[in-house]
Amino acid sequence: MTDIKSMYFDELSTSLKESGLPAFRAKQVWQWLQQKGVGSFDLMTNLSKDLREKLKEDYVIKFCEIEKKSASALDGTVKYLFRLFDGEFVESVLMKYKYGYSLCVSTQVGCRMNCAFCATGVGGFIRNLAAAEILSQIHAAQNDMDIKVSHIVLMGMGEPMDNYDNVIRFLKLVNNDDGLNIGMRNISLSTCGIIPGIKKLEQENLQLTLSVSLHAPNDDVRSRLMPVNKKYKVDDLLDVCRKYADSTSRRISYEYAMFGGVNDSDECAYELASKLKGTLAHINLIPANDVTESGLHSSTPERIKRFCEILEKSGRNVTVRRSLGGDIDASCGQLRSKHIKA
Ligand code: SAH
Repeated sequence: MTDIKSMYFDELSTSLKESGLPAFRAKQVWQWLQQKGVGSFDLMTNLSKDLREKLKEDYVIKFCEIEKKSASALDGTVKYLFRLFDGEFVESVLMKYKYGYSLCVSTQVGCRMNCAFCATGVGGFIRNLAAAEILSQIHAAQNDMDIKVSHIVLMGMGEPMDNYDNVIRFLKLVNNDDGLNIGMRNISLSTCGIIPGIKKLEQENLQLTLSVSLHAPNDDVRSRLMPVNKKYKVDDLLDVCRKYADSTSRRISYEYAMFGGVNDSDECAYELASKLKGTLAHINLIPANDVTESGLHSSTPERIKRFCEILEKSGRNVTVRRSLGGDIDASCGQLRSKHIKA
């Protein structure tokens, strides 16, 4: 069965033709899949019943069914648990901001990266998501809430750079004028720092925002938190990021989750300030969210304030991230399929 929703328009027309189906129907099929985001051929009501049956024989729509939905009483954030065609689960988080709706999407079922503080890594890695499955998270949330998502962050479960080709395909599909048409400037892609991926992304020359989960200014501290640092060292990573920012003229957002007594000292702040000097950078300090297995805890608000001040005084661009969805385990790093364990 061919994954029809992951196809670009020209691939879809060619494929229909090869299946002996009318290629001139490609536009209608494409609109149902990419704009309306239907999960079944039966809903493509302007196609003949016969054609719909033929499509079912050769193609599958990789859709996300809502398995569970929880809404935060604090801020209206909605967390979805989606069931995929093979019974696996992923989570997405819908956040409402002044500028519109932003959806945090997953790119893999599980994750290989095993960061010490992150809930997703705990269950290990299961599989990559197809482009269609990343897209379907947006369609499912939009159709459920009857809203339009205007911003996307690839910061849910998984490491986007570890599923590079499908993620790029997703980006091109979601950005398509005849699809959801979400502007690249409204998309953020977050990585734990996979150097070859960042270099490749630089070549794609997309106008999206690259976020780098740095969380520490040196190898000693970072390797304790993130196993990926054993392979891609802080200074090499920052070198590649500097080149990325220079060549794309896009500011990189450095994520820095703050863990009490681990990465929140004055020394860490000074070291970070100095290493990010002279490059297009925004530092996003994140009060860490508790993940029971990790034994790590957030820094105190006073520590975060002090850390932020050091960076500001050194001339760095820095903000402290407001946490949403805390009461429904929907904040950074809390996504996992609890469902499976039950
Ligand atoms: N794999 C990608 C994207 C998914 S994680 C990445 O590493 O960037 C999204 C963000 O949440 C990352 O910045 C990650 O480091 C952060 N995060 C994970 N667990 C967290 C926690 N317990 N508290 C705060 N942020 C966390």
